[in-house]
Amino acid sequence: THLQRLDEAKKRDHRKLGRELGLFTFHPYAPGSAFWLAKGTTLYHLLADYMRGVLVPAGYVELKTPLIFNKALWETSGHWEHYRSNMFLVEAEGAQMGVKAMNCPGHMLVFGTEMRSYRDLPLRFHEQTPLHRNEASGVLSGLTRVRQFSQDDAHVFVMESQIGDEVEKLLRLVQRVYGDFGLSAQMKLSTRPKEFMGEIAQWDHAEAALKQALGAVDIPYTLNEGEGAFYGPKIDADVTDALGRKWQCATIQLDYQLPQRFDLTYIGPDNAEHRPVVIHRAILGSFERFIALLLETYAGAFPLWIAPVQIVVLP
Ligand code: ZN
Repeated sequence: THLQRLDEAKKRDHRKLGRELGLFTFHPYAPGSAFWLAKGTTLYHLLADYMRGVLVPAGYVELKTPLIFNKALWETSGHWEHYRSNMFLVEAEGAQMGVKAMNCPGHMLVFGTEMRSYRDLPLRFHEQTPLHRNEASGVLSGLTRVRQFSQDDAHVFVMESQIGDEVEKLLRLVQRVYGDFGLSAQMKLSTRPKEFMGEIAQWDHAEAALKQALGAVDIPYTLNEGEGAFYGPKIDADVTDALGRKWQCATIQLDYQLPQRFDLTYIGPDNAEHRPVVIHRAILGSFERFIALLLETYAGAFPLWIAPVQIVVLP
């Protein structure tokens, strides 16, 4: 079985299929950044529009935020201190700038541009613009380890009392999306690590809300005790492909720290200022990785609804 799987994996290798199907190519002048060819671009758009079609009725609004930000933003978000070596840095008029590796800080700025009320929450920002991470050239591989990619990324701003409800909605959304692609996911709940920020009571509340949401949706999950991020607990989804390999795709992460770093507030029903909690979440993960997963799962034979058929318009 093992040898058969190896053989099948070779046949289904997305790098090989991507070339044969004319979806994408690479060039040494842009390591880790795909050139999407005509059919690949069609496929990319189909997935992007499918996701918009799912998210708009679910109450999301789509944003397009800048790709390059002044270092001051990355200092506020903490990336300058902890993540700078993974970012592409550029200089403009003597100012140090960083190319965004994630959308979160930009979304914090958008939240902070207006006075927000508890009636605005949950506020759901969705964005698909490209991200860049400075991965070492030696580890780059096809569409699964890249320097440039886009996510079906979103940040949901909620009141603490809304966490359970919102996570339940998210889990149903994850189930629906994977179902549409004929994929099934296993969930992992990761709880408070040894090094954490915030109050234990807050963590306990959040973890209980996540467990309750998982129970309400009736999804089997495994518990990863102490594996949460330092800023909050999270739920990850693994998809198992046709060859029994696991791909980590969806992630739902609670974050108490970023709203604090950006000093974000909303006015509560009591007329006082409160701090929102942010949920970082992606369902497909990165489009690049998800396309690699689809290619290897379907062995290149896409279901008709996402088949990248090139439409030729005659003059
Ligand atoms: Zn985020």
